[in-house]
Amino acid sequence: MERLQKVIAYAGVASRRKAEELILEGKVKVNGKVVRELGTKVSSSDTVEVNGVKLEKEDKVYFLLYKPRGVISAVTDDKGRKTVTDLFKKHVQERIFPVGRLDYDTSGLLLLTNDGEFANLITHPKYKIDKTYIARVKGIPTIENLKKLQRGIKLEDGKTAPAKVSMTTFDEKANKAIVEITIHEGRNRQVRRMFDAIGTPVVKLKRERLAFLDLTGLSTGEYRELTKHEVKLLR
Ligand code: URA
Repeated sequence: MERLQKVIAYAGVASRRKAEELILEGKVKVNGKVVRELGTKVSSSDTVEVNGVKLEKEDKVYFLLYKPRGVISAVTDDKGRKTVTDLFKKHVQERIFPVGRLDYDTSGLLLLTNDGEFANLITHPKYKIDKTYIARVKGIPTIENLKKLQRGIKLEDGKTAPAKVSMTTFDEKANKAIVEITIHEGRNRQVRRMFDAIGTPVVKLKRERLAFLDLTGLSTGEYRELTKHEVKLLR
């Protein structure tokens, strides 16, 4: 089930704000009846009409992108920067959006879809989907500090959930290390804040895996469709 204004926005009829106005103005019908409540939820079996025109039901599409650094995880950007959906414009007609986000400077695995229910499922903390990051950090974290990340560390928005952490390499002379970390939460800039908290800030961050998915076969900026089987397994 999805909020009515979101469904209208995803169908490409209007922005979410405009969709709310249309609902309040009585211009939206669900299964033939005018609906004026903004909180109304509808499912894919409901028929939605806006100004007397039925919403086209788009086929659901699912993509796995190797996001480059320097691209915004959004559909549009106020500042005119390149967004992840710009990378798809030539080939994909559906109105896709990113499932969760990676920072502007983070590269790696990002899913995109036009399926709102799927996106909610993947990003909801309740489902505890593992996300693995490779963090290049400044300084060499002590074993004690890595254990702190593993157990959960206090950040300004609360303690983090337990994580899997392993240092893959370190270079004493250059004073840097590479750490692999797996978390299932998705707080804003979480990995960067976790490493800040132990005094070894991230200089480069890449998401390597999400659940059983990885970046095999893709170069930066490339994408592929998820298979039906992969989508099923993620649900
Ligand atoms: N954690 C971060 O700090 N940044 C990301 O992009 C993803 C997770």
